[in-house]
Amino acid sequence: MIYDLHSHSRFSDGSLTPSELVSLASSAGVSYLALTDHDTIAGLEQAKLAAQESDLNIIQGVELSCSWQGQLLHIVGLNINAQDDRLLQGIAQNRDRRLQRAEAMHSDFKQHGICLVESVNEQLAVDGVPTRPHFANALVEQGLAKNKKQAFKRYLVKGKPGFIPMVWPSLAEVGAWVQSAGGVAVLAHPMRYRFTRTRLIRLIKEMQEAGIHGLEVSTPTTNVQQTAMLAELCREHKLVASIGSDFHSPNQAWARLGSAPDLPSAVTPVWQAF
Ligand code: AMP
Ligand code: MN
Ligand code: MN
Ligand code: MN
Repeated sequence: MIYDLHSHSRFSDGSLTPSELVSLASSAGVSYLALTDHDTIAGLEQAKLAAQESDLNIIQGVELSCSWQGQLLHIVGLNINAQDDRLLQGIAQNRDRRLQRAEAMHSDFKQHGICLVESVNEQLAVDGVPTRPHFANALVEQGLAKNKKQAFKRYLVKGKPGFIPMVWPSLAEVGAWVQSAGGVAVLAHPMRYRFTRTRLIRLIKEMQEAGIHGLEVSTPTTNVQQTAMLAELCREHKLVASIGSDFHSPNQAWARLGSAPDLPSAVTPVWQAF
């Protein structure tokens, strides 16, 4: 059984519609796919409809932005009730923050003689949620950067045009939203934050107080040693383990659907809690 519990569609910064995503995942042999767009669940209905025509099962998910000790973290909520009021309010709050930030980014770029409104909007589904990667693509499209990485380096980060500081909710808040919706929350891509082991353990303790009881242990960009370390942390701290590609687009060869290595056998897979 292939599980892929982290993926994106055009409702956030993915390049495929939810139905295209489902059919690509299905042809990659995925049996359980979680659509986890950034701060929106607007793509779930379309994904579920598309899944009815295939043998793939949709796990309802969302990737929530939050901050911890001044650092942006991503918490993936899985198997959520997409009708839960508290979660819906939380998501609406994060989405509003993103819409306001996008407006502020557009004005900042305009002051530098750059207009990205059309290129950003073209990439988004109706109701889609704007993210910095959309702006990065728009900058590349207009020849202002040679690739996304350079777009982030020259713009979009602290001290550069287009950077607007964000206030995100706390771990405790996003943990409460996912719990209210009966879901399981896990820390997305734990290695991406480059924390020391000590800091990661500190974070795990605060996650647990916030009702967040899992780590993404297997991703295509986590190496064997890192995966073993994360699995060990799951065992020590009684956390469940998740697996996901963080798929955004067929152009990203390093993050194909269903391509994360199997979870180590010694961990409790997150789906046991579904
Ligand atoms: P946002 O949530 O809109 O602030 O955008 C954050 C996303 O931008 C992250 O999930 C990354 O995928 C992407 N990102 C952040 N920094 C960089 C970078 N330096 N180069 C490429 N992508 C980045
Ligand atoms: Mn993304
Ligand atoms: Mn993420
Ligand atoms: Mn993601």
